[in-house]
Amino acid sequence: MRVPSFDVPWADFCDHEMLASLSCGFASFSSVALSCFALERCRAFRRFRAQPYKPNEGRLTNAEWWEALRVSAWNALVVQWPVNVVAFWLYRNVIGHGTELTITSVVGQLAFCLLFVEVWFYTSHIALHSKLLYRRVHKTHHRFTYPSAVCALYAHWLEFVFCNQLGVVLGPVLIGCHPYVTRAWLALALGGTALAHSGFVFATAVGRLFDASHHDLHHEFFHCNYGVLGLCDWLLRTDASYRGYIDAKAEKRNVPSHGGGA
Ligand SMILES: [Zn+2]
Ligand SMILES: [Zn+2]
Repeated sequence: MRVPSFDVPWADFCDHEMLASLSCGFASFSSVALSCFALERCRAFRRFRAQPYKPNEGRLTNAEWWEALRVSAWNALVVQWPVNVVAFWLYRNVIGHGTELTITSVVGQLAFCLLFVEVWFYTSHIALHSKLLYRRVHKTHHRFTYPSAVCALYAHWLEFVFCNQLGVVLGPVLIGCHPYVTRAWLALALGGTALAHSGFVFATAVGRLFDASHHDLHHEFFHCNYGVLGLCDWLLRTDASYRGYIDAKAEKRNVPSHGGGA
């Protein structure tokens, strides 16, 4: 399927495909982050909070939310550009992108991107928890032990670029996904990371993929759930259930205390 293009003077440097893909990701992330901001303030949704025993029933204060937005916006609006320009230049001029849009190609390309980000994020995230990198880099992201969606991009620039951004952008570039698949992937990945930090858990069969069930436990207990999907955590026995944190959480839920953060 042919993708319409715009003939603009700056197209060589900043091609429309990059802007279209990034816009999809940005729109998806912002809608989830803003929806979560509103839902956190609705009494009816408080029973879905992942850590209701934390201060303020496990919700960020307004001041914390704005602080998270400040750093996330800096990463999203400024820090991300150099990698995007290079990656999308390769995508367009060296590797090229697919022109065929079939069910099989869409599913195959999305599956590759998903597996790629799982392995990339798990590996780099484990490295960020090393003595050398944790204090210098990753501690920033762990500032919020009961995060909100906007905290997803709250990270040191080095972590944001190498762990988060490359994991998402390299997948479609390496296999030359169809441009529409790349846009869908960016929307899925950015919306997904916002949901993973939303602090909302819904007791549904697909909840693990579309809420904070997995990653919130990493922010709460620190030594578990390093991956995105849970596949690497399951294979390498770093998932929360293996490490006994599910039971620890169940005990916490039985104590109606509001004292102290992790
Ligand atoms: Zn971590
Ligand atoms: Zn996180």
